[in-house]
Amino acid sequence: MPKFIFVTGGVVSSVGKGITTASIGRILKSRGIRVSIQKLDPYLNVDPGTMSPYQHGEVFVTADGAETDLDLGHYERFLDQDLPASSSVTSGQIYLAVLERERRGDYLGGTIQAVPHLTNEIKSRIYGAAEAAGAEVLICEVGGTVGDIEGQTFIEAIRQIRHEEPRENCLSVHVTFLPWVGATRELKTKPTQHSVRELRSMGIQPDVIVARSDHPVPLDIRDKIALHCDVEPRAVIPLETAQSIYEVPLLLEERGLGDYILERLGLRGTRDLDAWREMVERLRNPHGSVDIAIVGKYVELHDAYLSVKEALVHAGIHHGVAINIHWVHAEWLERRAAGELLAGMHGIVVPGGFGERGWEGKIEAARYARETGTPYLGLCLGMQVMVTEFARNVCGMKGANSTEFAPDTPYPVISLLEEQQGITNLGGTMRLGAYPCRLVPGTRAHAAYGCDLVYERHRHRWEFNNAFRPQLEAAGLVVSGTSPDGSLVEVTELANHPFMVGTQFHPELQSRPNRAHPLFRALVQAAIERQLAPLAGAVPARG
Ligand code: GLN
Repeated sequence: MPKFIFVTGGVVSSVGKGITTASIGRILKSRGIRVSIQKLDPYLNVDPGTMSPYQHGEVFVTADGAETDLDLGHYERFLDQDLPASSSVTSGQIYLAVLERERRGDYLGGTIQAVPHLTNEIKSRIYGAAEAAGAEVLICEVGGTVGDIEGQTFIEAIRQIRHEEPRENCLSVHVTFLPWVGATRELKTKPTQHSVRELRSMGIQPDVIVARSDHPVPLDIRDKIALHCDVEPRAVIPLETAQSIYEVPLLLEERGLGDYILERLGLRGTRDLDAWREMVERLRNPHGSVDIAIVGKYVELHDAYLSVKEALVHAGIHHGVAINIHWVHAEWLERRAAGELLAGMHGIVVPGGFGERGWEGKIEAARYARETGTPYLGLCLGMQVMVTEFARNVCGMKGANSTEFAPDTPYPVISLLEEQQGITNLGGTMRLGAYPCRLVPGTRAHAAYGCDLVYERHRHRWEFNNAFRPQLEAAGLVVSGTSPDGSLVEVTELANHPFMVGTQFHPELQSRPNRAHPLFRALVQAAIERQLAPLAGAVPARG
């Protein structure tokens, strides 16, 4: 029978509830316990796929093709484990399922209510996820903070599960924040007390309180929280802001959270975070650094490219170098010279994207990378950028473009499959989730992966247009990966360039701190070499 850990948040959001949840997962997994994690998001969107990155940051895509909250990315990276679509539940999905059943007449004339109909649906998703994962422990994180109107049915469902299950099968962890009052130089516990009261008013007494703070938490503060919130002092776990998110499992384990959870849930397993600690040590003690630019359109919002940023960090850990990420707005490149904005960069990443804003700036970044021999990795849209730039500036296809941005371009080097096949109905849905890709021996991509067949995750509509393949290849663009039947171009690269690779998929989604993704490793390797020999691979200026 699976056991459950429910993680709720109080006081304010964005204090690291997702990282705490992921870290608990890592702690348990390191102790040899089979664990899975599920996110319960209170918003009414069916999934975050349609949400702007301004709302919730990056959309994370699971191997089975679900568009999910970015916390799923943290879970996968900390667990080093793929999670299924059932790990991501939203209120929208719950309402949709219940209402579809109502329309079908499945409720036989009954009145449909939040309790029990929504709560039953939620409970079946929670039990279902635990069962599908074969987990000994399922950790469920509820998005938002307690007291949010949308979150109430989730809290109620959790209350019911705690009631239905044997006591030693459920544990409730509440993550709060201790504000620092500068005038009196002290941390305040009152907001934590209030949020625990709110949680209790909904029938849940927390077993553990993780108290986030930007300052050291003295013992008397911990005891005060324990007293007022009715938890054991050893179950109040202070968590000061760490330098890196990957330190959090170590901090929590050090403070006894692992031991406490195992004791309360009646589980067995010895601590073994040695490999994780070693990884964190490498991260903390780099022997150099490289400068990498991420050219995107949400540079003021780093969460929009969270997995890309993390994948770079992982590659840095692998090579023992720190990665200085420079956020370069693609639109700046439309007004100022690329040489000015990207000078000194040892590598350039153009990540995925939708919409025209910044497209021409990204093309400029690709041109700069190609002409100066600067290592380049293009992810999804970033590959489309690379192909378009190459068509325009190397193959002389003036006005080459993606039909996403210029439907009437004379050279639609990136287009919809339907267009390629002469079908005019554009109602194609996105290609989502993991698909196989066959790599071509002798290419940089093949060398990086060191194997012939890989599975990578997708989230896109547009594709490389095969009609232009012969012409582009003749000019030096190498197709280094395709779908196994050869019909879809998955990876492109340049032969006479130190490292210029584009992927139609999103390799960043599969990178892990202890297993950096091969292509990000290769990019950072090329960046290190670039730092040692800045001019290698530069194309001589024309004319
Ligand atoms: N907008 C492009 C497409 O749909 C790229 C998508 C992406 O980068 N995820 O093909």
